[in-house]
Amino acid sequence: MKDRIIMQGLELHGYHGVLDAERELGQPFLIDLELFLDLRPAGRRDDLALTVDYSAVYAVVKKAFQARRYRLIEAVAEAVAQAVLSEFPVREVRVQVRKPHAPVRGKFKYFAVEITRSKRWLKRCEKAGLNPATAYIGLGSNQGDRSANLERALRELAAGPGIEVRRTASVYETAPVGRTDQGWFLNTVAEIETTLEPRALLTRLQRIETRLGRVRKERWGPRVIDLDLLLYGDLVLDEPGLQVPHPRLTERAFAVVPLAEIVPELTLPGRRRAADLARQLAREQEIHRCTES
Ligand code: ATP
Ligand code: CA
Ligand code: CA
Repeated sequence: MKDRIIMQGLELHGYHGVLDAERELGQPFLIDLELFLDLRPAGRRDDLALTVDYSAVYAVVKKAFQARRYRLIEAVAEAVAQAVLSEFPVREVRVQVRKPHAPVRGKFKYFAVEITRSKRWLKRCEKAGLNPATAYIGLGSNQGDRSANLERALRELAAGPGIEVRRTASVYETAPVGRTDQGWFLNTVAEIETTLEPRALLTRLQRIETRLGRVRKERWGPRVIDLDLLLYGDLVLDEPGLQVPHPRLTERAFAVVPLAEIVPELTLPGRRRAADLARQLAREQEIHRCTES
């Protein structure tokens, strides 16, 4: 059965690419889709519920396209195919991603990739639990046994499914920022490998905070434990209740210094090298290393 729905020339502005200029200024991308599914029931009954709604497909494609800054159009195509297959009752999808303004000297119409993916393929990937992301969690405590709180939070983090703690930085003692009428903090950062989506990860962090006895009172007040999602792969998210990278990450010595200890070469928002920013922030804010990692 070769029934298919065709959607051609979806134009989206994106920041995918390997060059700095592409990732900062962005450029137009064109996407073609073919969705393979049995169209007989919808055709016979003239019923939208028996086929897929084009505007819903458009919205899902746009969301997958904007969810991350990919380096390659191969990765864009893969993300779009995966989103369409998991959201709609289609057997197979063909995705073409074109880049008409690719930064290549010379005259050309566009560069493109085209892939065909099936639901069977998607199931196989899910079963294999592919695509874990590397994320960084900032930990802080300034109440109770601060060092025990950090250790317990790290243990709980490692104990849950879908998270593996790969590395942790040393523990640092830092002066409180914002509200200064409270005790000094102990802070560290953990690198994790996770198969959880960012939302699920944040929920997990908040459950651990609650289990350790965090009570949410005033913001930036003293706390038994604070777990912030600092970075999640290359993902950029700005949703109610979840922003990634953490919006205040690059202002804070207590987050950047431990982060730079484990990944000095990491590029942070604003295109700053972690180690360089850490050195600058450590000069401006009170921070002392207390233990080796
Ligand atoms: P800050 O966010 O400045 O570090 P805080 O950690 O004291 O302050 P909380 O009271 O712990 O703030 O969290 C306030 C809200 O921030 C949470 O309800 C959560 O939904 C939201 N939030 C948004 N993005 C993130 C993130 N990347 N990590 C953790 N929480 C986040
Ligand atoms: Ca915080
Ligand atoms: Ca927090």
